[in-house]
Amino acid sequence: MSEPRAIIYSDKEKPFERRHPWVFEGAIQSVNGTPEDGDLISLYTERDDFLARGYWNSQSQIRVHVLSWHQDETLDETWWQSRLQRAISSRTLLNIEHDAGKPNAYRLINAENDGLPGLVVDRYADFLVLQALTLGIDQRKQLIAEMLNDLLHPAGIFERSDVDVRAKEGLPPSTGILSGQEPPPFVEIVENGRHFLVDVHHGHKTGFYLDQRESRDTLRHWLRDDPDRQERTVLNCFSYTGGFSVYALNGQAKRAINVDSSADALALAKRNVKLNGGQVDEADYVEGDVFQVLRRYREAGERFDLIVLDPPKFAQNQKQVEGATRGYKDINLLAFELIKPGGLLMTFSCSGAVDADLFQKVVFGALVDARREGQIVARLGQAADHPVALTFPEGAYLKGLLCRVW
Ligand code: SAH
Repeated sequence: MSEPRAIIYSDKEKPFERRHPWVFEGAIQSVNGTPEDGDLISLYTERDDFLARGYWNSQSQIRVHVLSWHQDETLDETWWQSRLQRAISSRTLLNIEHDAGKPNAYRLINAENDGLPGLVVDRYADFLVLQALTLGIDQRKQLIAEMLNDLLHPAGIFERSDVDVRAKEGLPPSTGILSGQEPPPFVEIVENGRHFLVDVHHGHKTGFYLDQRESRDTLRHWLRDDPDRQERTVLNCFSYTGGFSVYALNGQAKRAINVDSSADALALAKRNVKLNGGQVDEADYVEGDVFQVLRRYREAGERFDLIVLDPPKFAQNQKQVEGATRGYKDINLLAFELIKPGGLLMTFSCSGAVDADLFQKVVFGALVDARREGQIVARLGQAADHPVALTFPEGAYLKGLLCRVW
């Protein structure tokens, strides 16, 4: 039986000429054949020209995720193997080398950005953690796990497909061992010479914010070059398991104060600080809502040398952008008010729907309302193991600014 075809309306072809990998329901004029969900399907123009090939899901608004733009490419097991291999070998070329040695935790496969829509694979020391975000990948995950085993021989591959986007694909959450051993409750990783315990079973994302590796190191560099670093107090807002704080203390800051709403995250932050030779002062671990804690600091007249703002995603989609910008403005305004003259603000947004221009405008508005002066000294973004496909601008979700504040 020949492969099913989806015919694309002529006035909806543009994105596919530009090789965008998502085919929404509204772009499809008709379907020839009866594809089962997860099956391969070809895209054709109304003029019968081949456009692309991908996998089908009738339950998702994104009906087809494109895998290949070449008519003569057969998407068999060899194809999947070579795509995985391509992504994995590109990681050895990435700028993730460091004077303290190569990290042993990084993203190996970054979904659309590595030509594998719906598939995320992160390495944590000897273990791999896999996320299947789409039905097409969910159906093939066992095969993919076997291929990853052959390519990398990990101790085990653990699935963490417990993300909300799966509901949009008609899928329930799914977690557990895909192959090999079960990871221990905490996997110890090394990143730029710093050690971290990662809860790959329950931690956020696949366990750790690997995407912030380079910005954590940027913070350490700025401290290292600061002659008064041993007098510096860093306020790490939305600290999670203390990533930025460990780097700040290694950069010889006097104090790093962690604020997070999760007691579990703070408990692990303490363990991570100790693991790196730091002292734990309970006062530096504040469980609470950053919006309220910053207001309390303002009322108490507290001031800080360097503030990190790395909040969760405030906008899940375009509709939430306005509310999200209010949230970003609020915390950035409070942070500007709390920074000592000459201090630094490292501020992030990981909302894909808030682009870099809008984010910069929001930070600018917060600065003006705080009646401070400031300059951008560095633009920050996701680490090199989270590449962005040029055909997939949505891949650039993380943006950050390092600002000097007067
Ligand atoms: N900077 C971290 C990652 C931050 S993730 C790193 O490099 O590892 C966002 C964190 O914000 C999560 O740990 C979450 O528990 C916390 N969080 C979410 N909303 C919050 C709020 N309103 N107040 C305090 N913490 C919050």
